[in-house]
Amino acid sequence: MYSLLTQDVKYLPGVGPHRAMILRTELDVRTIGDLFYQLPVRYVDRSRVHKVRELSDDMQYVQLRGKIVSVEERGVGRKRRLEAILADETGGVYLTWFAGLKYAAKKVKLGKTYLVLGKPMRFNGVFSLSHPEVDEVSPVPGSTGGESEAALPGLVPVYRVTDSMKRVGLNSKVMEKLVATAWEKLGDGTVPDWMPAHLLLSEKLAGLDRALREANHPSSLEGTRLAIERLKFDELFLLQLDIVYYAKRQNSKRKGYRFGKIGSYFMDFYEKQLPFSLTEAQKRVIREIRRDVGSGFQMNRLLQGDVGSGKTIVAVLTMLIALDNGFQAALMVPTEILAEQHYGELCRLLEPIGVKVGLLTGVVKGRARQEVLEGLSSGSVQIIVGTHALVEEPVEFHRLGFAVIDEQHRFGVRQRAKLWGKSVEPPHVLVMTATPIPRTLAMTVYGDLEVSVIDELPPGRKPVRTLHFGSGERDELVRLIEREAGEGRQIYVVYPLIQSSERSELKNLEDGYERVRTQFPHMSVGMLHGQMKPMDKAEVMTRFACGGLDILVATTVIEVGVNVPNASVMIIQDADRFGLAQLHQLRGRVGRGADESYCVLLTGTELGETSRRRIEIMCSTTDGFVLAEEDLKLRGPGDIEGTQQSGLVFKFRYANIMRDSALMQHCRALAEDICKNDGWGDEPRMRSLKVRLEEYHKGKETFVNIS
Ligand code: ADP
Ligand code: MG
Repeated sequence: MYSLLTQDVKYLPGVGPHRAMILRTELDVRTIGDLFYQLPVRYVDRSRVHKVRELSDDMQYVQLRGKIVSVEERGVGRKRRLEAILADETGGVYLTWFAGLKYAAKKVKLGKTYLVLGKPMRFNGVFSLSHPEVDEVSPVPGSTGGESEAALPGLVPVYRVTDSMKRVGLNSKVMEKLVATAWEKLGDGTVPDWMPAHLLLSEKLAGLDRALREANHPSSLEGTRLAIERLKFDELFLLQLDIVYYAKRQNSKRKGYRFGKIGSYFMDFYEKQLPFSLTEAQKRVIREIRRDVGSGFQMNRLLQGDVGSGKTIVAVLTMLIALDNGFQAALMVPTEILAEQHYGELCRLLEPIGVKVGLLTGVVKGRARQEVLEGLSSGSVQIIVGTHALVEEPVEFHRLGFAVIDEQHRFGVRQRAKLWGKSVEPPHVLVMTATPIPRTLAMTVYGDLEVSVIDELPPGRKPVRTLHFGSGERDELVRLIEREAGEGRQIYVVYPLIQSSERSELKNLEDGYERVRTQFPHMSVGMLHGQMKPMDKAEVMTRFACGGLDILVATTVIEVGVNVPNASVMIIQDADRFGLAQLHQLRGRVGRGADESYCVLLTGTELGETSRRRIEIMCSTTDGFVLAEEDLKLRGPGDIEGTQQSGLVFKFRYANIMRDSALMQHCRALAEDICKNDGWGDEPRMRSLKVRLEEYHKGKETFVNIS
């Protein structure tokens, strides 16, 4: 029976070599056993027939039974469609086809009775099912035919099929048939389970055979739930066990520089220069970093902290530890504006204690550039702040020991890897981000990366008040601006400029700038966008930072990291066009001082479902972690920024990385627990699991190291 499971799928009746090839390329189905894992994407409950009168907008797939009372082709050219009206005794709905009209026309005949299945959508008050499934049935004499319901198919699995599959006739129905045939062949046999019995018991899981049978031939929706639970568990558990058993073992032990001591740079700064006392969270993170860099192994740490939580100072202090041990340190940031700002701040903080800080961006040219480059290779420049210019140029370091990467979501994996070439041994790496990746995701995506979190804001901060204004609230907005500016506060007005090449969007910004100037003639207003010359950008930003501008009308170039504590209002135009992470970043530009501050989200009146939800979430929380989780929920598992940016693409078949994050955490803990005992794989009761893990590990892409 095991041989059946591993037999080439082409030998299954109804498959053959051609379809087998398609099954392999499209679904990775090679053996008959693989067919058992082809779970339906959903089940359609065909045990119930609705009446037209019962339809509502929120219904998924429904079944209707009625007579075709009209069939007509309408429209011309690409708008051509076939429109039929199906009526039961409570009303009528349209059935519409936009493609395959001929085929559909042959199928639906005037005056006949049909059972149809589709998703109802309402247009102008009338429901319509487009491209419904239709089956001719014999007319039901009475209006409520109790006995005829028994003949209905019940829960029907729907399988995912691709276009190539359809071309060889592998539609959902045929897939259902193939899977059924495979089960028939298995007969009394069972699919062997690799999960150790004691784990099945303690985790309350269904056995594999039962789970797969339920999933393919559901006896009830409850049964399918049990089955899916088991398969999700397998997926997450194997992934976590793999990380814990292999990735952690191999990767976390790369040799690195040992920063053995805390010296005078750190101490001087801590005692004389530190402008405030650290929060407990900042202290804890610094301890975590010190432990890493003192261990003799290379540090790979991700520091997550919400906007304004004070990550910069953590970076500064840890860079000083590198200096105390005779190394150089680098701070890489995604934009020139941010580089300039960090550079200014670092000079202010560190020059008094005799640290030489350099700046390297695309704007630093000629002699100045030459000097910085020389300083880096001789070691006289101890800390360098820069953009990707740092890694893309032939920059030589004297002794780079520590690299901090700020706001890493703009830095690609490949750019980070280039840091490697900059010193003999890999430098310690600290990646800082305010776009929090939920912990479960971080530990999965990054595998061996340690994660630190600053989960506390500096004292005295008030959460930013977030307001959603439509066009009706213009006056209120003007009053808010007048009031805040009157108190000496500053204001950002941000326009979406997603692609800097879009002329119309730039025009939008310029018009907005003019409008603001006309509306507030007594205020000084500046404009900032990505197409300006770097020098001009720097000048505007500096003027705003020094309080020389009341209002800055800008694109999202100010999104990341910019720190002007006196700014108290962030106005976001067309807020519905931004993603949650971006809105949160923008909002983080205010509320950095002790005063009450505001974020105003401006939108038109018509909002799509997702946009509306995003705005609601923004107004209801300022917690970046909550936002990140909500964001993932809205976007769904196929579109996870976190996984894409790390160069890993996760495709879960059964699990949803957000909805199942609790299960994932549980599986991680279980995996860690198992691996505590080095010899676990030799235990007889664990043998089958170990074999399955090895198989899994071989078949899976190797984990990419974060750097
Ligand atoms: P982010 O984590 O977003 O990079 P920053 O490092 O820019 O945040 O810090 C935001 C602001 O908070 C800065 O003005 C910084 O000086 C200030 N800050 C940081 N840590 C503290 C602290 N412990 N107490 C008071 N203010 C702090
Ligand atoms: Mg920052």
